[in-house]
Amino acid sequence: MDKKIILIFLAHPAHFHLFRTTIAYFKDNGVSPIVVIKSKDILEKLLNDEGVHFINILRSEKKTKSKIGLLFEAITGLIIRDIKLLKIAVKHKPRLLIGTDWAVAMRTFEWGGYRYGKDRLAVMAGGSLLPNNNQSLKDRIKYYINNYYTMPITHMNATVMDGYFSEIKKQKIRFLRGYASAIYTFAEHLSQRQQTLPFEAVFTTAEMLYPHQRDLMKKVFLCDIYDTYGCRDGMGMAVDCEMHKGMHICPEMSIMHIVDESGKEVKAGETGEVVLTSLYDYTMPLIRYAPGDLAIKSDRNCPCGRSLPMIEKIVGRSSDVFKLINGRVLNGLSITIEDLFEEFETYQIVQEAIDRVEMLLVPRKEIKPGRLQSLEEMLAFHCGEGVEVKAKIVDTIEVPQSGKFRYVISKVN
Ligand SMILES: [Zn+2]
Repeated sequence: MDKKIILIFLAHPAHFHLFRTTIAYFKDNGVSPIVVIKSKDILEKLLNDEGVHFINILRSEKKTKSKIGLLFEAITGLIIRDIKLLKIAVKHKPRLLIGTDWAVAMRTFEWGGYRYGKDRLAVMAGGSLLPNNNQSLKDRIKYYINNYYTMPITHMNATVMDGYFSEIKKQKIRFLRGYASAIYTFAEHLSQRQQTLPFEAVFTTAEMLYPHQRDLMKKVFLCDIYDTYGCRDGMGMAVDCEMHKGMHICPEMSIMHIVDESGKEVKAGETGEVVLTSLYDYTMPLIRYAPGDLAIKSDRNCPCGRSLPMIEKIVGRSSDVFKLINGRVLNGLSITIEDLFEEFETYQIVQEAIDRVEMLLVPRKEIKPGRLQSLEEMLAFHCGEGVEVKAKIVDTIEVPQSGKFRYVISKVN
């Protein structure tokens, strides 16, 4: 243990209380963690009182009264602090980063072999990861510092994807992160051209990752796929490791419970709603916040040996669940759809009313006679008596501005 270097980043005095025992534990075990802070007054005093040595990356405040000076401070301050933190991380090469959502995210990426500060990461995403239009100067600098190659998914077509493909090859990028459906679309496009694009790891996020999507990605990108679940509002995170035997919860950020309709914790193996209590939001603390995601609770230990608590998997959102007039509760994502992707470019199952479910389909080619009828029979089988079902051919299905595509939507639930 003594040779391991650990970096703890404290951005707020409350973090001191959160990590106080951790710091003491490391010290008792002969490890002096590098404590980095970006705060003054209270946090400095707390650490001094505790006898903890620290590096403060907050800039010395030059008194400026001009508006331009203040604006300049606001823009450059964050960036300069990021660079300082990065420099410390690169210099000491810590084995463990503790303290921020950034550190937790980096730990996830490291499980896939990615090394922050060294490896370039291609990011294929929309709003929540990449702004749709007009990236600000600050964002551009941030991506540059983080060594990201950004691939916005708005207006993604064959030409755009060909451009991404050649740029990734040219820059020899070995890691890819992004929305599951966007990366799948990219994989499909390459597969149709019988191209492969080898990566060392692909990290999917923001949407459900289906088994058939993972399989195609593996074939095209010739690497392991790491799925991640994140809810920024509640700071909840759960991530896949190299064993792919469930997802590790990241408890440093947020406390995650999986609860039934009465709010009680479900048993291992049961499905419940994800409820999050953020440990990081001080302005507006979210306590037992339910973002509407469903997960299966787990009490297993992962064969990888990491002791972080686990869930079996995320099984969709509560709005994927159709509560039907006949009393059935159907998770729309459980409807078998894998064979659909051969005939259809995309699809969407929409619960329009408690007694009506529609399936929208964008065909790749002319569909066989009777195909729509057979799909309606399949829907009727899942929905049961008293529910009107309809399968419809459409030209396109709109992707919301967030860029996150939904295969299943209940307008009722
Ligand atoms: Zn594991």
